[in-house]
This record gives sequence, C-alpha cells and structure tokens, in this order.
Amino acid sequence: MNKRIVVISILILLFTFNLDKPVSFAKQGTITEDNVHVRSGPGTEFQIITQIHDGTAFTFIKRQAEWVEIQLEDSNVGWVHAKYLSINDQVDTPSTITIPHENTQIRSSPTTDAPIANFAKKGSSFQVISSKGDWYEIQNKAIHGFVYKALTEPISLPMKESSFANKSIVIDVGHGGRDVGAIGASGVFEKDVAYLTAQELTNELSMLGANVRLTRRNDEYIPLNSRISYSNNFDTDVFISLHYNSVPNLPNVTGIESFYYKEANKKLAASIQKKVFDAVQADDRGTSFGDFLVLRQNLKPAILLELGFISNKAEEARLLTTMYQKKLVSGIIQGLGSYFARSEIGKTEY
Ligand SMILES: [Zn+2]
Repeated sequence: MNKRIVVISILILLFTFNLDKPVSFAKQGTITEDNVHVRSGPGTEFQIITQIHDGTAFTFIKRQAEWVEIQLEDSNVGWVHAKYLSINDQVDTPSTITIPHENTQIRSSPTTDAPIANFAKKGSSFQVISSKGDWYEIQNKAIHGFVYKALTEPISLPMKESSFANKSIVIDVGHGGRDVGAIGASGVFEKDVAYLTAQELTNELSMLGANVRLTRRNDEYIPLNSRISYSNNFDTDVFISLHYNSVPNLPNVTGIESFYYKEANKKLAASIQKKVFDAVQADDRGTSFGDFLVLRQNLKPAILLELGFISNKAEEARLLTTMYQKKLVSGIIQGLGSYFARSEIGKTEY
C-alpha cells in the first residue's frame, strides 16, 4: 500500500466513524490535580489558555485519544490531558456500544497486561455490563471481555497524538525467494510465516500513523546488505527483523526470543519481548545479545525477533492462524509504543 492510499483510507475511516452514532459519554467531571494546564487544542503543542485546580468541576465535551475537551463554569472551553481528571461515568455508561475500529482488542481483565481474549469486528455491538476505570466490561453472543474505553470512541483514532505518528519503521521480512529460511515440522517455510507477520504489522503500524518500509514486498531473495541499506540510508526510528526458529532434533522446544547487538538497543528488544510475551503467553526465551549482520552493521536502533519455533508442530500450526499473528503483532506494537513513550519522557509536558 503506498502512503497516499493509506492516508485516503484513514480519511475514509474517520469519515465513516463520524457517521456512526456516537456513544454517549460522561457529562460531568472533576479535575484531580493542582495547576493543570487547559490548552486550546488536544496536544502539548497547543497554547495554554488557563490553569485549573484540584476539585474544579467541568462539563465533558469530547475525548480525542489522551485529551479531553471540557467546558468550565466560567464557560471557558479547552483541552486537558485525561490523566488529570476524573469523569463521573456511572451515570453515563452507555448500555450498548458499537465497535468503531476493525480488530479491536478485547482483554480478559481490565488492564493491558491481561491476555487478549478476542478481537471485535468493526460494527459489532455489545452490551455494556460494567464500567471500571478506563475499561468497559462488554458482552455479546460470541465475546465477553474488557475493552479500553478510548477504543470505543468514534473519533479516537490517535493520529496526531499517537507515539507512532511519523515514526519511520523498517520491517525486515526474514529470508525470501530461494532462501526459504528454516523449514517447519510439516514443511512450512520460515520466509512465508515472516511474511504473514510483516503484513499484519504493516497494517497496524500504518493505521497508527507510522511510515513503514519493508525490505521485501514479494517472495524474492534480498541480500543482507540491501536490507541494512533500507535502514541506514533513511531517517529510521526502528529496524525490526522478523524471523522464526527451528531445531528439528528438539521438536518440543517452543517460545519467543529477541536479540540486540548494541547495548543501547537492549531496552527496545526487552520492551518488545515483554509485550509479545504478555500478548501470546508463549515460552519466554528472553532477550539476548545476537551477532547478526543486520544488527551489527545497522546504524539505527535495530532488533531481531524470533517469534516461535516452526519445528514444533503445535507452534507451527498456531503461527499460521490469523488470530495468533494478530496477538503477536499487538505485542510488538505495544512494546514499540512503550519504547517510544519512554524515549519521549523528559521532553513532554502535559
Ligand atoms: Zn531466520
């Protein structure tokens, strides 16, 4: 997909969401800290209009990603970061919601550390059973679980505020063409599984506003040096090499592991390792130093992921399912997200 198509798709999506009947959210709330900045727009780049204090009441207007537009008693209108306010949602919890985004994650308990229980389709309807903090407990005939409230808001596509916006990410799709990579228990090629993951990861990252470059878009042989030049010759924020493992003589071995070459990239590898583990609950083989050419000669933050053992028959089968691939990718995204968020700490003032 080229960039123009991505942008147009997102515009169409935004337009579509606005046609959906919006969920009715809380009307009243209070500020929970002192000296909270009220800004003219949903982001720290907007001007500070005024400051408000702990206990100040407001009327909720709308929410956009991490920011909430509020109206104060003096009829001032402005935006406040969501972490500085509480919204009385007992009165305004909707009785039903319609999921506005494709493949919305449904968790087994109200925290992002909980395993993903399912993915809800765009347009599917749920009964809201309860409201717990930032989460709704929802249920329909097929699915029961918890959804992050911001994900149920029609206008919450966090383009501008997303920590992924304008990030350049190179996805190195392991092997290809005559180099099939490892061969699975029932004959699956590593190159094909890596391609599945790359497709899913590209879609998700593009939706979040990242610029994604793939080292191969087809089943073709790309030399390692060319793969590195995709990273080194551009303004790359992160290079992720996707691989699957195989030890045919030890078919019981399973699990995920991540590698870095430069010490500076250890945190990035560990962050993704942790979140992928949280998402799929596979065996955790940890984060290690790895002397791989694509890492060693990479001038940008670079890691290599081994996301499973195709020599294990059950793992090979699981890796070929869309559900499992989506879980893997949601783990990678969350790991990247917390890495980006951490690298912005210090220069962010809410
Ligand atoms: Zn490989």
